[in-house]
Amino acid sequence: MMKKRLLWQIYPSFLLIILISVVGVGWYGSQSIRKFHLNQVAEDLNSSAHLIEKQISVNLTTYNFKEIDDFCKQIAAISSTRITVILPNGEVVADSDEIPSRMKNHADRPEFQNALERGSGNSLRFSETLGKKMMYLAIPIKQDDTVMAVVRTSVPITAIDEALKNIYKKLFWAGLIVAVCAAVISLAISKKISRPVEQMTEVAKHFASGKLDLRLSIPNAAELADLAKALNEMAQQLNARIDTITEERSQIQAILSSMIEGVLAVDSDEHIVSCNKAAAELLGIDADKSHGLSVEEAIRNPQLQQYIKNTIENKQATETECSVLNDGGRFLQLYGSALADDKGNNTGAVLVLHDITRTRQLEEVRRDFVANVSHELKTPVTSIKGFVETLLDGAVNDPQEAQKFLKIIAKHSDRLNAIIEDLLSLSRLEEDSEKRRLSFEKTSLRPALVSAIELSKVKADQKHITVKLLCDKEITGKINAALIEQAVLNLVDNAIKYSLDNSTIQISAKKQENEVLVTVSDKGCGIEKEHLERIFERFYVVDKGRSRKLGGTGLGLSIVKHIAGVHGGYVKVESTVGKGSIFEIHLPSNLSNEENTGKSS
Ligand code: ADP
Repeated sequence: MMKKRLLWQIYPSFLLIILISVVGVGWYGSQSIRKFHLNQVAEDLNSSAHLIEKQISVNLTTYNFKEIDDFCKQIAAISSTRITVILPNGEVVADSDEIPSRMKNHADRPEFQNALERGSGNSLRFSETLGKKMMYLAIPIKQDDTVMAVVRTSVPITAIDEALKNIYKKLFWAGLIVAVCAAVISLAISKKISRPVEQMTEVAKHFASGKLDLRLSIPNAAELADLAKALNEMAQQLNARIDTITEERSQIQAILSSMIEGVLAVDSDEHIVSCNKAAAELLGIDADKSHGLSVEEAIRNPQLQQYIKNTIENKQATETECSVLNDGGRFLQLYGSALADDKGNNTGAVLVLHDITRTRQLEEVRRDFVANVSHELKTPVTSIKGFVETLLDGAVNDPQEAQKFLKIIAKHSDRLNAIIEDLLSLSRLEEDSEKRRLSFEKTSLRPALVSAIELSKVKADQKHITVKLLCDKEITGKINAALIEQAVLNLVDNAIKYSLDNSTIQISAKKQENEVLVTVSDKGCGIEKEHLERIFERFYVVDKGRSRKLGGTGLGLSIVKHIAGVHGGYVKVESTVGKGSIFEIHLPSNLSNEENTGKSS
């Protein structure tokens, strides 16, 4: 319902009071004046009647009614009063305005009856004789306690009414002027009372809409002044509290958004109330848009939805792991805890999310690695054991057979040795890079490349392969020369292994923007496309039989990748089956010691 302004509640009350007062005073005044006037007229009539009584009492005793009638008419001619003399039986014997003989018997007139009974009587009534409203006053004329006659004086009341009308008119105008003045004054007073209240209401509305910097002016009225002060105080305190809350909120927000862990808070109806950047990334949702959405709408993961539901219901802190499908699949570790207010009522739950994808992947890699190592070691060990048992069973007595078996045992031992050597290299590399034991020096690359070529010279010569080197002495890099030498040696070894006799291998090093690029290219058998992505994995070989025959362990390229990694660089391969392969080691030229912990798996 539309509420009325305070002014329009006060002002009509004032108007009503003014109206009642003016009308009341006017009515009472006019009635008093009328009463006073009538009393005055009655007094006059009474005096006249007594005067006339004295004059006519002699004629009455002599029954000279004609004389009395003439006297009445004479008196009436000089005063506006009508005089009537009535005998006790009601017969009119004299009248100033009429011929008495024509007049009716007046015994029934109330003023006449009252005069006889009480000694005086007056009445205000319509005169049938004159056809006017008249005021009558009658007194008895007595002689020795005997009523001789009744003298009645009267005046037309219309004259009194005329006189009163004028007074009423003046009273009305005076009342109207007073009422208008009072109405104007009371409007001003109403405004004076309501204005500060309306101003306070206006400012209070601004407070409610959040503009707490405004202040109320202090009104003169003590109560309103107290109220205004209290409101100003309240606004100031609210402002201060809101500032504190905002500050705390932005601190919490800053902490939440800088956290690596995802934090997700939901209310008891499973609607998202807070979601930090990390949580949004992990769950693949928009942090801003998700606010207020239900968990079912925002996170399309039944396992997670169920976990949130359970956390709210069970009111217990729990931990679980779950996989989410965004970003190619992630594994999350969830810590959930129910939220409660001061009274212990359930208000929702908060979840902390850890991305454990990397840990899971590493666990998987280690598991595969252990399985691969066991498998790779088992094969030569089984063969060695088998041939040794055959020898023990008697083959040792046949020199030719024994020779053959011992050669096989030696070959498998070499393979075992090669695998163990490569494994040791890898683990040394990992350990050294983890413990930051590797040193990097700004040095020319050429010596390391020349040394690698020299170490592979015997194998290259066996296959009449030419190894060319294209590297300026000025090309330098912040490197661990021994590791670079080993990486290039592995690549050249492979190039020799997988190239035909009389072919050529080229090693080059050049400076590029922000990096040094080392390439080893051959014109060997090449690698099919589907294997290219995996050849840097540990123990991955394209052709097991061929690799084993050529003395490969499947670890050479993973060592190369690792060495590039500890330098903060990476490896790349391009290959065409039947045409050859190009292996590239990219080393950053601005490598600093802090970055030398780069890992590769
Ligand atoms: P391996 O000891 O068996 O050579 P690597 O890790 O060095 O193991 O190489 C993995 C696989 O990559 C090899 O089995 C081989 O099939 C392929 N490969 C490596 N280098 C070359 C190359 N230069 N030409 C063709 N294939 C290669």
